[in-house]
Amino acid sequence: MKILYRSYDDSTTIFKKLESEYPKYFKIESIGQTWEKRDINLITISKNIKTANSKPALFYTGTIHAREWIGHELAIEFASYVLKNLETDPTLQTYLSESTIYMVPCANPDGYEYSRNHFSFWRKNRRQNMDGTYGVDLNRNFPIGFVKSTNTSSNVYGGPEPFSEPETQCLRDFVLAHPNITIALDYHSQGNVFFPAHDFRHEDTIDTIDMNILCANMAEEIRKIAGREYGIHQGKPPAKLISGSGREFYYSQGILSSVVEVGTRNISDYMEDMNENIREHIPALIYALKEVDNYSKNSPIQRVNSFDITEIGSNHVNLKWDYKVNKDIYFEIFRSRSDKHYCNTSNLITKTQSLEFSDINLASNKDYFYNIRAVNKKTNQKSPFYPQIRVRTSVEYDEYSRTYYANAKGTGYVAENLNNNPKHFGVNSLFVGVDENKGISYAVISVNVKSLPKNALIKGASFNLYPINRVSTTIEKYGEWNVGLVNQETMGDITNFEDVDNMEIIRYIGRPTESHQLTQGIWRTWSLSGLECLDLKKSIVDDTIVLRVEGPKELRIGRTKQMMQWDIGYGKYGFGLSYRPRLELTYTIEPTVVALYPKSIHTVSNSEVIDDVITAGFDEKGNKIYSTFKFNLSSLPPYNNTMITKAYFELNSTKIYIKDDIRFHLEFVDENIEKSYKDITNREVIQNVGYDISANELKNNQTQYFVFDSFSEIILNEKLKNKSDIAFVLKPTSATKIIKDKTVSWEASNTALCPKLIIEYIPKRRLPVEQVTNAQLSMENGKIKVTWNNPKDEDFTGTKVIKNAYRKPLSAQDGQKLYAGVDEYTLDDFGATDIDKYYAIFTYDDVPNYSKPIILEYKAK
Ligand SMILES: [Zn+2]
Repeated sequence: MKILYRSYDDSTTIFKKLESEYPKYFKIESIGQTWEKRDINLITISKNIKTANSKPALFYTGTIHAREWIGHELAIEFASYVLKNLETDPTLQTYLSESTIYMVPCANPDGYEYSRNHFSFWRKNRRQNMDGTYGVDLNRNFPIGFVKSTNTSSNVYGGPEPFSEPETQCLRDFVLAHPNITIALDYHSQGNVFFPAHDFRHEDTIDTIDMNILCANMAEEIRKIAGREYGIHQGKPPAKLISGSGREFYYSQGILSSVVEVGTRNISDYMEDMNENIREHIPALIYALKEVDNYSKNSPIQRVNSFDITEIGSNHVNLKWDYKVNKDIYFEIFRSRSDKHYCNTSNLITKTQSLEFSDINLASNKDYFYNIRAVNKKTNQKSPFYPQIRVRTSVEYDEYSRTYYANAKGTGYVAENLNNNPKHFGVNSLFVGVDENKGISYAVISVNVKSLPKNALIKGASFNLYPINRVSTTIEKYGEWNVGLVNQETMGDITNFEDVDNMEIIRYIGRPTESHQLTQGIWRTWSLSGLECLDLKKSIVDDTIVLRVEGPKELRIGRTKQMMQWDIGYGKYGFGLSYRPRLELTYTIEPTVVALYPKSIHTVSNSEVIDDVITAGFDEKGNKIYSTFKFNLSSLPPYNNTMITKAYFELNSTKIYIKDDIRFHLEFVDENIEKSYKDITNREVIQNVGYDISANELKNNQTQYFVFDSFSEIILNEKLKNKSDIAFVLKPTSATKIIKDKTVSWEASNTALCPKLIIEYIPKRRLPVEQVTNAQLSMENGKIKVTWNNPKDEDFTGTKVIKNAYRKPLSAQDGQKLYAGVDEYTLDDFGATDIDKYYAIFTYDDVPNYSKPIILEYKAK
């Protein structure tokens, strides 16, 4: 027993008191009785208790698992908070005028009292089973995915049949009698994670995004209070699915439904943790209440009919959608940089009545996630979200991108007290931290980067780990998890604990991950700084990078572990290919530098054209004298495999004797100008190159550089396409009075000092390789099989296959990844065969440029 936690009788007394104080807003009733004849309390909160059942409702359940006391305690505090503030808080008044709160504060009163008074870690109810054992796991006693078992002493024994228990029967009856419920939240402890309903299939549902965003927005309310980060994990095959849970039953009734795992242990320290958990969850619950009305089954606001990508660039993405025209409707679009992100005012990028949107000023080679909902401007009611779009912007013209996965042989964990450490490699999840049995443990991760060119200059990098389980690992609020770059020159055996413990770390990368940031279902990323990228490159030995992940090394009294479990993506416990430890790199390569010499040079004045002389200024009548230059690009390699990354023009002045305020501009001009004065004065200027220089500056600096800006570089690249000539004009200007008979000259014939166009370029394909051919769907052993033929191009690097049930993916990220590699088939291993979906097949080269996809449409029979 813990004195600060309220008993079941205490809460009944508190609720009865609230009912007498706030009869207009609050009601307590019994919806059934337990085996031990306790009433199962249901409380209702509404702006008007008489009409409560006619409003869309939030359904809260707590402590269905006896030892998870937070649910009961939070219900008492949340109900009290709402009632105390309802008359003064206009937001609460608005929400509760439109919606209702139903709460079953404790769905397992017998078990709860047993846990309070006798056996703290009791989980089930108190049914006496036929064989003399006690208890059914009530959260395995609902019918969806119910698993029949005779193991009655198991902690997850689901009972003789679905709804065999009085506690689950009354939850069922209440939910069936209240179709106004739109959101159901079932409170458990522990794990700091939301588990939305998973639908038992390996496919996203139309409302997967609604559940993720609901949870993400609640998580953001929690983060605002104490900085704690909550995960969101919709378990999907091959992960273990939760059978017979209340959450899945509510979801089967058309209710958005999630489990909320609160805190770091089942029964937490009330003063240190529980107070904070309650404080965090009150605003999260108020947020959920705000959304209740938007998910009403008879809501007049439908989600958009489609949401598509129409164009992807290195810094922009164009989107379009479809909706029945209605002047009262506008659309909200949210943009995030990570999956399972909140959608609130801070990432709302447009409110528009248009059916398309162009998002600009994006970064290159970055993932962006877009979400859309319709809003009625009169009622402010919102539609559900359409399934999320995921895009990766193209690489910048001088960039390449690589995703490297950990290799199985060199990736595993080593623990101080285990003698089978080598056996973990390529098989077991990565356990990092400390455990009373295993002792200290590290993960070692090896990444093969053979395809990274030797002359690569890494511009950006991130290391990513997928947290596989935060619930069974029970992490307390202390310690941090770091990733170190290992010096392989001094490294011993990576499967030996002593050697790993003694590894020399060149430097730790990114920022540490603190314990309150650990969760599951959301990738953890360590982003490298520029200096860390340099060391990352230097650390490569035999085409391999080795990283060590470490966590806390000391246990606190009374605790058995402080250990995180990350996915390895291999072996029977791994979630597969997409969940392997991942290193993302953006790089460029050292350019080739060439100096081009002019094909022709002229000085053009009103009276004459002089070949091979560079003079500019003003003649005796005050007319401008120009110099012109032509270059030819034919010595550069072919356009399709070459990117010009930098260009500048070099001039060397001579004979400087003027003091007048004359400035000189170098213009990039259309190459079709003739060398006549008329032609020059009517020239078409593409862009000024660099900045103008004054006659005075020339005295101090014999050499002048005019550097191309981005626009001139783009045009220069275009000129390369046709290998055409390019032309420049050196033009004098003066701001003051007319200047007469003043000129400056530059070196024209001396090879070292004559004008030069200096160009830096890298070899890089501009266009993708061809698409696959002969793409087909077929069935093999009950699974959908995708087959194709790869193109024969020598630059072909691989094929990527993704699936999406809601749109034809234009982006190679916009869906579930099924395959990437050089094979010519893949199986949709866990995919459902009873729903329609699209498979998109992209080819890619080593940039990568992705081809336009070949789309195959699967129609369920
Ligand atoms: Zn639980």
